[in-house]
Amino acid sequence: MKLELQGITKKFGDFTANDAIDLVVQPGTVHALLGENGAGKSTLMNVLFGLYDADGGQILLDDEPRVFAGPGDAMDAGIGMVHQHFMLVPVFTVAESVMLGNEDVTGPAKLLDLNAARAKVKELSDRFGFAIDPDAVIEDLSVGAQQRVEIIKALSRDAQILILDEPTAVLTPQETDELLDIVGQLRDAGTAVVLITHKLREVKAIADDITVIRRGKVVGTAEPTASQEELASLMVGRDVSMTVAKDAADPGDPMLQVHNLTVVDGVTEITLLDGVTFEIRAGEILAVAGVQGNGQTELAEAIAGLTPTDAGHVTLDGEDITGHSIRKVLDAGVGFVPEDRTEDGIVANFTIINNLILDIYDRAPYSTRGTLNGKVLVDNAEKQVENFDVRTTSINALTGSLSGGNQQKVVLARELSRDLKLLIASQPTRGLDVGSIEFVHKRIIEERDNGAAVLIVSSELDEVYALADRIAVMYHGRIVDIVPPDTDRDTLGLMMAGAHKEEEAA
Ligand code: ADP
Ligand code: MG
Repeated sequence: MKLELQGITKKFGDFTANDAIDLVVQPGTVHALLGENGAGKSTLMNVLFGLYDADGGQILLDDEPRVFAGPGDAMDAGIGMVHQHFMLVPVFTVAESVMLGNEDVTGPAKLLDLNAARAKVKELSDRFGFAIDPDAVIEDLSVGAQQRVEIIKALSRDAQILILDEPTAVLTPQETDELLDIVGQLRDAGTAVVLITHKLREVKAIADDITVIRRGKVVGTAEPTASQEELASLMVGRDVSMTVAKDAADPGDPMLQVHNLTVVDGVTEITLLDGVTFEIRAGEILAVAGVQGNGQTELAEAIAGLTPTDAGHVTLDGEDITGHSIRKVLDAGVGFVPEDRTEDGIVANFTIINNLILDIYDRAPYSTRGTLNGKVLVDNAEKQVENFDVRTTSINALTGSLSGGNQQKVVLARELSRDLKLLIASQPTRGLDVGSIEFVHKRIIEERDNGAAVLIVSSELDEVYALADRIAVMYHGRIVDIVPPDTDRDTLGLMMAGAHKEEEAA
């Protein structure tokens, strides 16, 4: 079925999230919808899926104008959508999940009994190589497998147009390859696939057509043969270099030493961090790779003093800082860029000026004998806003009113403005555009070259490769191994999926 969007406009109050967007997706093709965070991709797909009413424009299926009052209408018309956050019930089996919401469908896809659902799952699984057991329980499945269940669910309702919203954000490299493989098969079977992503590598690997949106508008289309640089500059609106030049590290003495660090969840008693041991030397970047939820967050927070530890030691430049409060840890020369910036990184109802001095307002030059030096604060804010290209109407704006990427720049500007022995940065460029990523990576490498030890936690392998002098891979709360930065993607991917280093003896 051919999909056509004509002039779709969607506003949230005064803000135009989609501005007269045109898009044509032919059956049997993969159409990549490429754009930075906040470009308006999910909004457009939510309009298509009947979740939002458009303020203008129309949707045509096989040249017929259609109006969807809700997702039920869209599904009946043959549209399936796999959301970024899956919506499966953990205790159901696959067949039950697929039947759920499918039993009251009027149409050919009605699945009234569990056996019919089971047979449907098996048939689809065999046809497309999903490798999914109809009787498996959802919570026992990997994230990648759960995502395949969502796709099966859409296909079981005869979806001829399949929307995948950032499907690879939660996958290992191997799972990503498997998914792209499935997408290719669906395309070959005649499905029209809309693949939403901001990952250029995937777009180039699978897309037949590429539409790039920026700030709610279509800014161009591209061929899959376009280079990553070309696609990136379309996304951002100016030239960007995709690789930051970096000299080899020249590490000094051990700066951060972590020994047997262990964190147990107080409520569930699950071991989140399981006896982690490593060190980072001055002038060295250790990047922690892993699929989200394998202890990386807890590691960064435990070292920073945000999460209480149950065993082990953290030593900074020879001083034991285990169990110190975050305030004391920061004072000891640690910069901390938290994963959850709104929770831990900024005070939303403080101005940019004040967020830029959160940990340092009480000392020179920002204060003298307990009084803030207004002029110094303003000068500092103006300089940092300029340096980090924080997009704001004023340094007096409340930081909470900025977009996520600009809030992140405020956090980075503040943390990097002190003299650091150790920089801990979790997902440092999440939500930033490609151009800002380049800038932030440069600054992190400068910190290293100034002699700081740097601990990066990132779920983006491209970021790990761009920054790491050594790569630690975490799985189930443990460091599986620490490997050199030229280790290939496949090997890292296997380690991220829990496969240990080959037996030395073998
Ligand atoms: P993308 O999927 O490309 O990252 P979105 O479509 O989610 O972007 O968001 C586009 C813009 O619309 C963002 O600036 C976002 O803050 C805004 N937006 C999205 N949903 C809403 C909403 N329900 N209310 C207000 N603003 C929204
Ligand atoms: Mg989105």
